[in-house]
Amino acid sequence: MSGEHLLPGTTLRDRTAAATGDVRLRGSLARALRHFGHGRERALADLDDPDGLRHAARAVRADILADLPAILERLADRFEANGGQVFWAADAAEANGHIAGIARRIGARRVVKSKSMASEETGLNEALARAGCSVVETDLGEWIIQLAHETPSHIIAPAVHRDRYQAAEALQTAAGDRTLDPDPAKLAAFARETLRAEYLRADLGVSGVNLGVAETGSLVLVTNEGNASLTMGVPRVHVAVMGMERVTATWEQCELLLSLLARSATGQQLSAYTDIVSGPRRAGEADGPDEVHLVILDNGRSDVLASELHEILACIRCGACLNVCPVYRQVGGHAYGWVYSGPVGAVLTPLLASEHPEAAELANASTLCGACMDACPVGIPLQDLLLSLRRRRAERAGSAERAAWRAWAEAWGRPAGYRTSTRALARGRAAARWAHLLPGLSRWTEGRAAPVPARRTFRERWDAGEV
Ligand code: SF4
Repeated sequence: MSGEHLLPGTTLRDRTAAATGDVRLRGSLARALRHFGHGRERALADLDDPDGLRHAARAVRADILADLPAILERLADRFEANGGQVFWAADAAEANGHIAGIARRIGARRVVKSKSMASEETGLNEALARAGCSVVETDLGEWIIQLAHETPSHIIAPAVHRDRYQAAEALQTAAGDRTLDPDPAKLAAFARETLRAEYLRADLGVSGVNLGVAETGSLVLVTNEGNASLTMGVPRVHVAVMGMERVTATWEQCELLLSLLARSATGQQLSAYTDIVSGPRRAGEADGPDEVHLVILDNGRSDVLASELHEILACIRCGACLNVCPVYRQVGGHAYGWVYSGPVGAVLTPLLASEHPEAAELANASTLCGACMDACPVGIPLQDLLLSLRRRRAERAGSAERAAWRAWAEAWGRPAGYRTSTRALARGRAAARWAHLLPGLSRWTEGRAAPVPARRTFRERWDAGEV
């Protein structure tokens, strides 16, 4: 785990406060998420039995996770038998070191990259820059945030937090003297024209992997812009970085998950481009790399797999849980402080970035309304996982906090203690307006009024025959 993207020196509280005060950000989020939400609803309404499909997908992902080491071995063996090369990276440093080594060996100076959350996680761009390479992101949203020196704010739409004027502003840095019109079609045309030249000049292509299929040793990449096709098809050498959970045993499983991924992400039946690479270019093939490498990234996933929270590894990164989350919808992805945001990020980040204690507070970035669980196409019990993380955090709480909770449990566990404390609250009700001065309560009362206790306790009224 590189953790390089955890925003240094800021807390979740600082970041959410900044985001909620940013009217422009909230406008961009509202527009985009409404669009994704409608698309998903329409796509699911077209299905005869969306719940049946979801249950099937959940079962498939559970089967895969239960047999993950064997499926990964099969994928690696077949990929190598096809002529590809496999590297098992225990952590971010190993993955980056291996890819930088490939770049040095082939004398690469220019790298084109298709969007990859796994390489965001490892901080690959910075590592390649240190190895002397210039890296260009080729997904439009990803290119915009690269030019703006930002991290993705959404799993499938990295620049969702920017409106078209802000997108044009970022792209302007690549346009030089030419002034860009903030019309989305014109911006896309500018990106297409500029990036085409980058593919042709690139020595190395890097991509993520949506799903690896063990049956044939193949890697599947889906995009709506076709940039993965060019990233894989044009440069002489290609490296694909895959989180170790992103596999299926069979093509049948892959097909099911891809159809749910597209429907849940953008409301499409299938993404516009589905690229499959099973090895280097064969004799007679028109395009494709001479060398293909697969980096299988662990980076803390084995520990997650062995834990009671392993179901989070069933995630297929569709982003549906972000789109429906009332917290994400207000604050966007940067408030989460790391590459994965929304409910999936609130679970994954504390697990994968466990060496950063501040990551644990992300489990609180949820209202526990359950909308994310309902939206998840592979039925991950996100709410239960968030509660488990909160429980873990409570167990590690400071001694003063633990002593306070123990005293409270002790008092309310006995009738006399309960009676005395509720009576004391009723008598001291006037003090409720000073609650914000009490240590620990001040943060709670900042955004809401402290409840005022009743004048008399329920028991007093019961004894008086009033209830
Ligand atoms: S947790 Fe579920 S809904 Fe969220 S991104 Fe992963 S698969 Fe999609």
